[in-house]
Amino acid sequence: MKRHTAFHETRAALEAGEATCEGITRQYLETIEKGKRLNAFLAVFPEQALGRACAVDRKLAGGTAGRLAGMVIAVKDVLCVKNERVTCASKILKNFVSLFDATVVRRLEAEDAVIIGKTNMDEFAMGSSTENSAYGPVLNPVDESRVPGGSSGGSAVAVAAGMAHTALGSDTGGSIRQPASFCGIVGLKPTYGRVSRYGLVALSSSFDQIGPFANAASDAARVLQVIAGHDENDSTSARMPVPDYLAALDRNIRGLRIGVPREAFIDGLNAQVRTALERVLDRLREGGAVVEEVSLPCSEFVISTYYILMTAEASSNLARFDGARYGYRSSGARDLTENYVRSRSEGFGAETKRRIMLGTYVLSAGYYDAYYLKAQKVRRLIQEDFLNAFRRVDCVCMPTAPTTAFARGEKADDPLEMYLSDVYTVSANLAGVPAISVPAGSDDRGLPIGAQFIGRQFDEATILKIADFLES
Ligand code: GLN
Repeated sequence: MKRHTAFHETRAALEAGEATCEGITRQYLETIEKGKRLNAFLAVFPEQALGRACAVDRKLAGGTAGRLAGMVIAVKDVLCVKNERVTCASKILKNFVSLFDATVVRRLEAEDAVIIGKTNMDEFAMGSSTENSAYGPVLNPVDESRVPGGSSGGSAVAVAAGMAHTALGSDTGGSIRQPASFCGIVGLKPTYGRVSRYGLVALSSSFDQIGPFANAASDAARVLQVIAGHDENDSTSARMPVPDYLAALDRNIRGLRIGVPREAFIDGLNAQVRTALERVLDRLREGGAVVEEVSLPCSEFVISTYYILMTAEASSNLARFDGARYGYRSSGARDLTENYVRSRSEGFGAETKRRIMLGTYVLSAGYYDAYYLKAQKVRRLIQEDFLNAFRRVDCVCMPTAPTTAFARGEKADDPLEMYLSDVYTVSANLAGVPAISVPAGSDDRGLPIGAQFIGRQFDEATILKIADFLES
């Protein structure tokens, strides 16, 4: 696949007067139009985007442009953009229009980014393939017979297919990193609390984080710089200083300690993924990093712990979609209870219903202690695994996914198989730590492989630095 422009090249062309923001936006709109069959977008905003781009060009000429002037960005349709629909790729929110902007959207626009549209996704961000959208599956631009990963598949494809410089996704258990890996781009899940979730439709509130997809680590750093930081509208957003991420990208990794968990190189791991990871580790050693083995003893419990806790939180969060307050309402109901039952039965897709039922079950009086409470305790142990590892190393490296992009339909009828593709990503969400997926070559079919780096809480700088080093 063709290599797409990193933002600093665009910015240089803008400053040299060789390009305009309007022209760049037009190009992206054309690429979106040509790539329609990929189904990456649920909504495109041509007039608004071009109008904003012209305003940005005037600011550039006047020397008052913001840090992201010239950047064209797509946002996952789980984020609110004022006066635009926010569907979460569900039928239940088909015509629901947002009354306000998510904090991340407001911050991006304040720095003059141009929002080009809303991207397709698995319904309510549940899935690993973007086949669960009520508006049809998204295709992987590297090989259209394959899935792009999920749940932020549309955002990953928008960046990988050159339909935007960058895109925002949400990551509850891997939904930024896994599709980034399957599409051959960079995907960053920040520390829990680093980025405000105000205006992000909640899937599982103690896991969800918003983060960027990009063609280069420096682009991810620029976007994170703008969206990170405390927000009074989200009490879980941290009052922590936001460091200068671009300044951290000095390509000097000498002395950096990188831990490789012995539990990560499991039997199900594809041999080509393993080889690619070994090559990445060799390059890091050549750059002066110290690679050593660490242990994350609870690794075998991460999938079960994640799927108990995330379904519990999801079942509670999704109770608000009741056919009375938001979106779709069934026309056939004769009383209130029937309205709830019918609206939810008709409005939600199969995977969403499965998770609501699972979550309700693990929270029910008879099973709460055995499942929910137990899983909360194991979550604590998983966090401690990371704390222990980070006493010895600065970050942990493992694959992003056990395989490369799988064929469309391959796992669609086997939810457990699908859940297992999250085996390397969910632990960072359980522990609340930041993690990035970076391109690490491809397999013999040309399908991209991703290497994942997991950092200490609030230390996005180190993992961005490694990602940037690997691009050199
Ligand atoms: N694939 C995971 C799931 O289905 C991750 C979802 C996410 O991160 N939003 O739950």
